[in-house]
Amino acid sequence: AKGGRGGKGNACYVTSTNRAPTFAEKGEPGENRWLKLELKLLADVGLVGYPSVGKSSIIAQVSAARPEIAAYHFTTLSPVLGVVRIDEERSFVLADIPGLIEGASEGRGLGHQFLKHIERTHSLLFVIDSFEEDAYQKFLILKQELKEFHPKLAEKPYVIALNKADLGNEDSLKIFKENGEKPIVTSAITGEGCETLKLALDKLVIPKQKKSSGWASKK
Ligand code: GDP
Ligand code: MG
Repeated sequence: AKGGRGGKGNACYVTSTNRAPTFAEKGEPGENRWLKLELKLLADVGLVGYPSVGKSSIIAQVSAARPEIAAYHFTTLSPVLGVVRIDEERSFVLADIPGLIEGASEGRGLGHQFLKHIERTHSLLFVIDSFEEDAYQKFLILKQELKEFHPKLAEKPYVIALNKADLGNEDSLKIFKENGEKPIVTSAITGEGCETLKLALDKLVIPKQKKSSGWASKK
């Protein structure tokens, strides 16, 4: 919005008898304009997964963030950012984005509203509930959802966390491996695999950190 034309200042009214006039002309009012701003988060890694697979639990395990965790869907209604520290010099930001559901790319459920946040993350962490029979199928659907929303999303580097390992379902891991994926088996409850997960994510993020000087690691 443009500002209004300014008025004449008191310097314009200086005369031989009044060297410092105390009046000045008022300017014209400026333009008003209503803007709708949309915040897009900028995180290194965005968490992607169906509701209740343990995204919030994972972010709580690997960072100091304390998102709401519960056994019902859509606990996380606004994105949560967690800083994951690798060592004194290195860290990255993980964004817990509320549950993606099938059809999110068509605006169904809450997904669409949040998918835009993933647009600006460097990498993705797919969180899959390993206890579910169709875990691999779920992963494919998630990827498809992202692709439909924006083809670029599906090209981002990613890591898969096969979570809830403590409930035990080795078949899931097998199917992922058969399809050429190398998921990291985790349990956000016992902490199993969470350290491995941190390091794997750090590896994905490093190239980006080297590129932009602001993030450059001294190592
Ligand atoms: P989100 O919706 O993906 O953020 O899932 P939450 O982190 O809120 O977790 C949903 C439920 O699953 C909660 O009751 C968690 O305690 C539980 N949960 C999360 N991770 C694990 C895990 O690794 N093992 C088990 N057994 N339960 C988990
Ligand atoms: Mg959550």
